[in-house]
Amino acid sequence: MKVLVTGGCGYIGSHTIIDLLDHGFDVVSVDNLVNSSEATLAGIKAITGKDVQNYVLDLCDLAATRQIFLDHPDINGIIHFAALKFVGESVEQPLRYFQNNLNSLLNVLSCLEEFGVDHFIFSSSCSVYGNTDALPVTEGTPFQEAESPYGRTKQIGEQMIKDFAKKQQSASFIALRYFNPCGAHPSNQLGESPIHGASNLVPVITETAIGKREKMTIFGDDYDTRDGSCVRDYIHVMDLANAHTKALQFLIAGKNDKNYDIFNLGIGEGVSVLEAVNAFMKVTEKPLNYEIGPRRAGDVIAIYANSEKATRLLGWVPKYGIDDIMRTAWAWEKKRTAEA
Ligand code: UDP
Repeated sequence: MKVLVTGGCGYIGSHTIIDLLDHGFDVVSVDNLVNSSEATLAGIKAITGKDVQNYVLDLCDLAATRQIFLDHPDINGIIHFAALKFVGESVEQPLRYFQNNLNSLLNVLSCLEEFGVDHFIFSSSCSVYGNTDALPVTEGTPFQEAESPYGRTKQIGEQMIKDFAKKQQSASFIALRYFNPCGAHPSNQLGESPIHGASNLVPVITETAIGKREKMTIFGDDYDTRDGSCVRDYIHVMDLANAHTKALQFLIAGKNDKNYDIFNLGIGEGVSVLEAVNAFMKVTEKPLNYEIGPRRAGDVIAIYANSEKATRLLGWVPKYGIDDIMRTAWAWEKKRTAEA
């Protein structure tokens, strides 16, 4: 089956393409390269031996997006990763986030309708939950106010899909709520390559350790958590990638009892920022120059997943923990720095 992966040159998209190819899917990618580069395709080729076609276009351009489906009438699944994704940036540029993330989703859904695509998987995020006391969160945990415009685009995106799915009964839809994706492919041929400088914790850690940054800041140590820093559920990118394949297989096999469903994807363990920093130093034996700074706007205090539903229905079992994440992320940082 042929699958369109939007955002296929990005971090999670590219790792998911590898897992899809490994499981026999044909893949077409589309990416506007606003936060990624086509160098990723070389990493995919090195790992899988396969060339993936990538369209460089903006999904906010409906005519250009339609052309992909006109060229590939056999696309029967869409995995929609493409979106702006930085919490802090979204607080500064809310309209850009709404414009980009919502219009692109709208266009992809209208192509699904027009071209009769049967399966759709949406990259959602634990940020839809906002600040909640109900930890670990399940898919039934109610949304709180989104802490950032980025989180708001994921809340609205899910609701758009849910409403559309009621009408589009011929198709089936899944939203996957990611917790904090990080780490690199174990082959060390592919990993996260932030092209405008990292802002997520794990690449900030590795960039600091390798000397690209003089020091890093921990955003707040006065939260109501066990050590005062924020708590997150760090999930290895290949575990996350495999969940997409499993979700698609689940829909293709018709195992879904409704045509819109939601799954959390985390490993179910809360790790604080300070614990993550310490895990890095332990695993790599590299010191980290860090300081404690003020809280970052838009951050939720603590969140981690109950992913039992994904295990039960999709057969998804994450394999990697925080130490594997740090080990693979560090190996990849050393490689990409040496090659830069
Ligand atoms: N964080 C930090 N310093 C950094 C980057 C992130 O202390 O340089 C913290 C951030 O405040 C949050 C956690 O690390 O508590 C995870 O942030 P990230 O941006 O990786 O993901 P998010 O949870 O915001 O999606």
